[in-house]
Amino acid sequence: MSDSSNPWSNGSTTGFSTRAIHAGEDRLKPGFAMTDPIFCAATFTFANTQAVIDFVEQKQPREEYARYGNPTEKVLERKLAALDGGESAIVFGSGMAAVAAVLLAKLQSGDEVVLFDECYHRTRELSAKHLGKFGVVTHQIPACDYEAMEAAITPRTKLLISESPTNPHLSVVDIERFAAIGRRHGVETLIDATLATPYNVRPLEFGVDYVLHSCTKYLGGHNDLLAGVVIGSTEKLEPIRKLRGVLGMVCGPLNEYLLLRGLKTFELRMQRHNENGQAVAEFLASHPRIEKVYYPGLPSHRDFEVARRTMRGFGGLVTFLVKDASDEQTGRIVDALRIPRIGPSLGGAESLVEQPCHMSYHDFTPEQRRAVGIADNMIRLSCGLENAEDLIADLKQALDH
Ligand SMILES: *Cc1c(COP(=O)(O)O)cnc(C)c1O
Repeated sequence: MSDSSNPWSNGSTTGFSTRAIHAGEDRLKPGFAMTDPIFCAATFTFANTQAVIDFVEQKQPREEYARYGNPTEKVLERKLAALDGGESAIVFGSGMAAVAAVLLAKLQSGDEVVLFDECYHRTRELSAKHLGKFGVVTHQIPACDYEAMEAAITPRTKLLISESPTNPHLSVVDIERFAAIGRRHGVETLIDATLATPYNVRPLEFGVDYVLHSCTKYLGGHNDLLAGVVIGSTEKLEPIRKLRGVLGMVCGPLNEYLLLRGLKTFELRMQRHNENGQAVAEFLASHPRIEKVYYPGLPSHRDFEVARRTMRGFGGLVTFLVKDASDEQTGRIVDALRIPRIGPSLGGAESLVEQPCHMSYHDFTPEQRRAVGIADNMIRLSCGLENAEDLIADLKQALDH
């Protein structure tokens, strides 16, 4: 049903919000509704046998069974592909489902993967532990150590994986350099850009093969849905799409509608997240009780220059260490905050805060936590869309508590 008269269907020259609002959508929709309908259908029927034959021979683009796709999803996939400047997108039921689909579709026994050790811990677990059972070999190397990455590549290496920025340390990968290493060795590259979003960086423009997002975070933006997406060339995505049809890691039309709705305000939300993140990071950096702030928009951050060169803004996530504070004293600061609620995840309208040693890394031993740089006095704050002065006043009262 793609409408070629839609001027924004692949309009890389139009503004970001214009694209976020209009890309992928037909101008006239079923029932002449302003919005795209939620197609709550598991199955799609055919008028007659000739219609089935036309569909199988790909003369008639349409849906057949919702494990392979639904019309709400097609609109969302076109929109997400347009935002990242990619040819195609595949939407999944979660970010991890998207990661799993890429790895399962692209790797086989004996293949090797090289990933930066600050990758999302479930991605590392999936690759090392679960795919390890099927003979995939995972090499973990220190984040942003490009020499180590290059040295770890063997003739069996099939995929280089990184996140950028990383979570919770907010290291920023030099994506151009990362992509060039892949090309030089004939190895495909994947960037999980969940923390950056296509508003702040578009890895495909730097030559990366696949960009992936947990749409649960900024793209959804309202702390109310789980979804994931992988974007790249139609040809490279084809085996991943086929595998999704086999495994059934679909998102479903209700969540897809929520995502489409959230994307209408995506640029406005990202501008506020970027402003709030920067203001809060600057406040914390100047506070006497703070030992260190991890935020790529601060000149003190190791990757400030790379970030400034490659990113439009640095998002709402700010990680910091409280000076001379024990695990318990750090927890008391978290508990004293009145605006951010305590919980995992990030990127929604409501601010969220967590102490990583108790939340995302609770199943690590203290030695394992130290090895991945998770300190007991570390706090991770996801700045939502509230007013920066209120977030700062709240942090001030909690730190002075
Ligand atoms: C949350 C997250 C994921 C996993 O996404 P889900 O939607 O929770 O499955 C993957 N990568 C990054 C960087 C994340 O923040």
